[in-house]
Amino acid sequence: MANEQLSALIDATNTAVQEAKDDLTKLDQAIGDGDHGLNMARGFAAIEQDRDKILAKPLGPALQAAGMTLVMKVGGASGPLYGSLLMAMGKAAPEGEPDRASLADMLGAGVEAVKKRGKSDRGAKTMLDVLIPVQEALADGADIAKIRQVADDAAEATIPMVATKGRASYLGERSAGHLDPGAASSRLLLQTVCDVIEG
Ligand code: ADP
Ligand code: MG
Repeated sequence: MANEQLSALIDATNTAVQEAKDDLTKLDQAIGDGDHGLNMARGFAAIEQDRDKILAKPLGPALQAAGMTLVMKVGGASGPLYGSLLMAMGKAAPEGEPDRASLADMLGAGVEAVKKRGKSDRGAKTMLDVLIPVQEALADGADIAKIRQVADDAAEATIPMVATKGRASYLGERSAGHLDPGAASSRLLLQTVCDVIEG
């Protein structure tokens, strides 16, 4: 990935997260503690602040540095989880330009790290319910339009789910009927990556 694209990615994800802050907070007010918007906004603003340091590195170490920033700057569960995702993706990144197969491998490594860190998997009404189907679609060779569709459908599919991980799990059956905040932020981030790739 060209440095220019990584730079665009840092700006675009930060802008998207700041714009979505209130919506993400509302989702977390319904089934959590109402801080997801703030956590994401704080984390991505911190990455933006570290942009020069991050952009001085090749893709792999750059993603690891961005992940470390999220782990250090975000208090909620989502900071360490998204941080683990980016750090593992960075570790799995190739030396040169990543092609589709290496992007799928990178996201695969990221998903495994989130599973491990969250002691979680698909079906628990979390960000993994978006990240896993998108990773699978990417590995299957889906085009960008298809990836967007998969991310959107996967986020919406968390609505009827009963949460078994994270704060929403404290609500038990009452967590059903609400979009998971982390699924919403994962959809947003993945769609923003699609925007940047499309140019
Ligand atoms: P907190 O739950 O600490 O308040 P956030 O509100 O920022 O943190 O993030 C909540 C989101 O994090 C949830 O909507 C869910 O998608 C995700 N999440 C929480 N716990 C887990 C877990 N164990 N595994 C995967 N994702 C999780
Ligand atoms: Mg929260």
